[in-house]
Amino acid sequence: MTAQRDYAALVQRGLSLDLTRGKPSPRQLDLSNDMLKLPSSYKAADGTDGRNYGNLQGLTELRALFAPLIQVPAEQLVVGGNASLALMHDTVVHALLSKVPGAERRWIEEPEITFLCPVPGYDRHFTICERFGITMVPVPMNAGGPDMDVVERLVATDASVKGMWCVPKYSNPSGIVYSDETVRRLATMPTAASDFRIFWDNAYAVHHLTDTPAELADLLALATAHGNADRVFVYASTSKVTLAGAGVSFFGSSPANVEWFLHNTAKQSIGPDKINQLRHVEFLRDPAGVALHMLRHADLIGPKFELVDKVLTEQLGGLASWTSPKGGYFISLEVPHAAEVVAKAKAAGIALTPAGATHPYGKDPDDRTIRIAPTYPDLDELEQAINGLAVCVRLVAEERG
Ligand code: PMP
Repeated sequence: MTAQRDYAALVQRGLSLDLTRGKPSPRQLDLSNDMLKLPSSYKAADGTDGRNYGNLQGLTELRALFAPLIQVPAEQLVVGGNASLALMHDTVVHALLSKVPGAERRWIEEPEITFLCPVPGYDRHFTICERFGITMVPVPMNAGGPDMDVVERLVATDASVKGMWCVPKYSNPSGIVYSDETVRRLATMPTAASDFRIFWDNAYAVHHLTDTPAELADLLALATAHGNADRVFVYASTSKVTLAGAGVSFFGSSPANVEWFLHNTAKQSIGPDKINQLRHVEFLRDPAGVALHMLRHADLIGPKFELVDKVLTEQLGGLASWTSPKGGYFISLEVPHAAEVVAKAKAAGIALTPAGATHPYGKDPDDRTIRIAPTYPDLDELEQAINGLAVCVRLVAEERG
C-alpha cells in the first residue's frame, strides 16, 4: 500500500520532467562558448581559404587531431557535418545504391539484407534499418560486448548478414566496453558475405566518467592485419564534446572504403563547413586539449550518475538492477514490466524513453530495459525524477504482487 500512497502523492505534485534523450546540459554547452568566437583565422594549415568550397575529406589538421582518439589513420578519416548519425544513414544509402568494395552487387539488389543488433542498443540505429527494410536480428550483450558465439555463427552461415551495429565503448545504453577478445573476434571472424560491414559507432570514445579511462582495442588495425580492412566503418562526433548542434563528425575506414565513400559524397556536396573545422582545431588544439575538456564535462555529469546510483540503491535495492557506467551518457535500468513502469511515470509527469526503444522494432521480449539519460536535467530535477521513477517501479511491483 505504501507505494500506492507514494504514487498518489507523486501525481499530485504535477511534475514535468524529461529523462528521454541523452542531451548535454546547458552548462556543458557553456564549456564551449569560447569556440563561438573562433576561428581567429580562416586560413587552413595548407594555406587554403576555409571560407570557400573544397576539401571534401576535411582539414588535415582536424583529422590529425582526432585520428589517435578514434583509432583511424588521419589519411583514412573523413570529416562530416554535425551529425555522425547522418554519416551512418548515408553509408547505408550508398551501400544500397553503389557496390561497396568486395560486394557482388548493390545491397538494393539483394533479396534480403540483415543487420545484427546487439541489445540493448541505440534506437536510432534501428530506425535506419527500419527505414530501408533491413531485417534486424538481436544479439544478446554480455559483460564484454555482444555474445560472440552467436555473432560468429550468424555471420558465417547467413550471407544476408551484411552489417552489424556496435557502440563499442560506454555503449548506449548499457555502458559496456567491448573486451579485447570481442574486438579480436570481430576483426577476424569468417563471414559468408564478402561485403559484410561492422558499423563501429564510437560515439563515446573520449567520454570518461572516472580517472581510469577504458581502453578499447583497435578494430580497424586488427581487421587490416588479418586481411579484413574493408570490414570496418568507424563513426564518431564531437556532439558531446563541443556542441551537439554544431559539432563535427567523422567517418573512418580502409583506403578502398574511404575512396568509395568520397566518390559517393562528391555528388552530395562541393565541400564541408571548414570554418567550423578550423574553430574545432583552434579550440581543442590536440588530444590533451580534448582530454582536459572532457574532464570538465565529467565534473558536471559525474555527480548526476552518482546521484542516480544512490537514489536507486536507496529506493530499489532487490527490486531492480542497473548499470554503473564508467563513461558515456546512459544508465540501463532492468525492471520487471518496464512498459508499465514507463507508463506510470509518464502519467506522473516523468518522461522516459519508451520501453522497448532499446530493441529492434521497439520490442523488448523480456519487457525489462529502461534507458535513463541523466545528463540534461539539473541535480535537483534529476533527484525528483529518479525518486519518482523508483516509486513507479515499487508501485508496479506491488500491483503485480
Ligand atoms: N551514436 C550513439 C551511440 C549515440 O548515443 C548518439 C547520440 N545519442 C549518436 C550516435 C548521435 O551522434 P551525432 O550527434 O553525432 O549524430
